[in-house]
Amino acid sequence: MTLNLVPFVSVDKMMKLVLRIGIERVLTDLAAEIETDFRRWPDFDKTPRVASHSDVGVIELMPTSDGETYGFKYVNGHPANMKQGLQTVTAFGLLADVATGYPLLLSEMTILTALRTAATSAMAARHLAPPGARVMAMIGNGAQAEFQALAFQAVCGVEAVRLYDIDPAATRKCAANLKGRGLEVVTCASPEEAILGAQIITTCTADKNYATILTDNMVGAGVHINAIGGDCPGKTELARDILLRSEIFVEYPPQTRIEGEIQQLAADHPVTELWQVMTGRAAGRRDAAQITLFDSVGFAIEDFSALRYVLAQAQKTGLYDNLDMIADPDDPRDLFGMVLRAAV
Ligand code: NAD
Repeated sequence: MTLNLVPFVSVDKMMKLVLRIGIERVLTDLAAEIETDFRRWPDFDKTPRVASHSDVGVIELMPTSDGETYGFKYVNGHPANMKQGLQTVTAFGLLADVATGYPLLLSEMTILTALRTAATSAMAARHLAPPGARVMAMIGNGAQAEFQALAFQAVCGVEAVRLYDIDPAATRKCAANLKGRGLEVVTCASPEEAILGAQIITTCTADKNYATILTDNMVGAGVHINAIGGDCPGKTELARDILLRSEIFVEYPPQTRIEGEIQQLAADHPVTELWQVMTGRAAGRRDAAQITLFDSVGFAIEDFSALRYVLAQAQKTGLYDNLDMIADPDDPRDLFGMVLRAAV
């Protein structure tokens, strides 16, 4: 590998990589990698992501650095895309060497985002869900859903998922994809039916407004809520009263206050940072009756961990291409001469 050739993991190579390693193994590995990086939280540069909003969606840049390696992700969120046959969320990302500024990896991140989001949810639930939780309700059965279900199975020991989507075709697709993976899959006709007997409730819907996927009376004592879909100003999933009854856990408060469910609350409403739970500075679940809520929006450090994992796995397996992305004149000051010499 020479410095001017940048390893590139395409969608095709990512699919092969995930299948080669095994999806459950990737999810478990990613949960461990992300937790390792959350435990060294103070090492990272942190900033809320840079968002460009339009009436139909958002385009965001998510940068971070640990002083040795820099990473960023480009990601969009366009809930109306699906009706045109397009993904709601697409992404790609880059790692670079802080010492030289040279890129180390360019990778697709649409699949990787689904994997890292699911791994982060499962990692959080391992600290927050009631011990022995075996049943999860999955409300919203779109692109992220199977990844979420498999991460909770692999990392938290969930044995049954209860699926609901306003579009029954999404639920059928999800149930078919999860067949034969050792999970009991129950398809449900309403969100109320989906949450029956569930100790974990995942909301993973896409709608660019203040939606009420869960109303207050649907959430009983002791459950863990994994709220994935509210991740943008004006885009939430939970009734405000649920938040007032819950102990709320977040990734990076300055970003979550703008984008998460807690945008519905006062700016000083107490929340707990997940990294503090992981390092023992703050308590996770304290008792059986508590409602715990992971107000997930997705943070840059999760993408950084995922990209570093992919770089290591790509190098191990050879599942990457080389991109001629960085100009490399023999004399670094003769960039112009290099262009001229290309004529002969
Ligand atoms: P998707 O469009 O593929 O799926 C969304 C599903 O939600 C669809 O099947 C739709 O029919 C369903 N839905 C919409 N309104 C509903 C309702 N009221 N009740 C039940 N189902 C409903 O989108 P996706 O890629 O699966 O993403 C889901 C959400 O997760 C999006 O809002 C996305 O922005 C968010 N997301 C968050 C993170 C994070 O880190 N927190 C990461 C990725 C995606």
